[in-house]
Amino acid sequence: MQCEKCGRDLTVWDVGFYKKLVNRGATAFCCMDCTCAHFRIEKGRAWEMIRRFRQSGCTLFPPLGEDDTGAPPDKRD
Ligand SMILES: [Zn+2]
Repeated sequence: MQCEKCGRDLTVWDVGFYKKLVNRGATAFCCMDCTCAHFRIEKGRAWEMIRRFRQSGCTLFPPLGEDDTGAPPDKRD
């Protein structure tokens, strides 16, 4: 599955974030970069939002585990 806008391969984070912000029933998605750009959200803030969603038990994302503090799995950007 790839981003509708930039064609990047999508991760579970991209898809979950898009569903959460745009449309839970979406069948085509954008990556977090494109979704953030659309809503004018900073990437760091997006990850903070995801952490909160997970803490509240949002099923669009993998559950928080003992070894998973909700920090971005990929900090390269
Ligand atoms: Zn994209």
